Amino acid sequence: MTQWIYLDGQYVTKEEAKVSVYDHGFLYGDGIFEGIRIYEGNIFKCHEHLVRLYDSAKSIMLNIPLTMEEMEEVLCETIRRNELKDGYIRLIVSRGAGNLGLDPLRCPQASVIVIVEQLAIYPEEAYLNGLRTISVSQRRNIPDALNPKIKSLNYLNNILVKIQANHADVGEAIMLNAQGYVAEGSSDNIFIVKNGVVFTPPCYLGALEGITRNTIIELCEELGYKLKEEPFTLHDVYVADEVFFTGTAAEVIAVREVDGRVIGTGQAGPITLSLLKRFREVVTQNGKKVYEA
Ligand code: PMP
Repeated sequence: MTQWIYLDGQYVTKEEAKVSVYDHGFLYGDGIFEGIRIYEGNIFKCHEHLVRLYDSAKSIMLNIPLTMEEMEEVLCETIRRNELKDGYIRLIVSRGAGNLGLDPLRCPQASVIVIVEQLAIYPEEAYLNGLRTISVSQRRNIPDALNPKIKSLNYLNNILVKIQANHADVGEAIMLNAQGYVAEGSSDNIFIVKNGVVFTPPCYLGALEGITRNTIIELCEELGYKLKEEPFTLHDVYVADEVFFTGTAAEVIAVREVDGRVIGTGQAGPITLSLLKRFREVVTQNGKKVYEA
């Protein structure tokens, strides 16, 4: 079946979907993006993702050539054309084509791309048994330099972490911030559970304000778990009863080992599993229905 991609106002095939080598997203990582899931024809937290996209755009002074409502319709139409019910949306807005200098003023028109695909990131077994993970030497970008709240196309900080994770043969890794507090994973937020209380670092320490993270915070309240957004260190991770990552692609995935320390019982803990169960129930409900008028 042909895969259709939205590219600057047109729906083109994957083979036809080409961008300029002068695009500043390519030359400099100048642009922003979103990764969004679609579950049973529902774009989960579509509005929240679009708000984060338009906030990132405002922060980097990027003029998105579509309103939020038009963008939502583009997402729906791309999904419909690909007849997708479950999958992943990658929405990219780059600064567009300019010259070889880095000045964004030379880029007259931002470029908008929407790709939708099937997605399977971890096998189901990993959600029960948990991932092995490590902490890495690479520190999270400091907010004063490039704020991790901006979901920019510049992912080299994260990629360097992924390289260390690959080298250690683990699926995800933990990044600290410059002060040594736990920040997040290479592409996920992190939570720990200790004595029944759920902790996650405040995003000002250097983390993306994850849509999944915020959903888990809501679900903690719904399920009656005490949730604290406060700084913690690697030591707290090592001695936690449960550790898990959250992200659009990864959903809610347990960690069974960090830097050789076994976490809790060495498999997904009860609070992690109950949050995952409830998460998988709400993902079909809260968002934008693609196939309804
Ligand atoms: N942190 C980083 C660095 C990410 O790339 C992602 C994935 N978008 C997340 C956290 C999780 O965010 P979300 O739950 O919105 O996917």
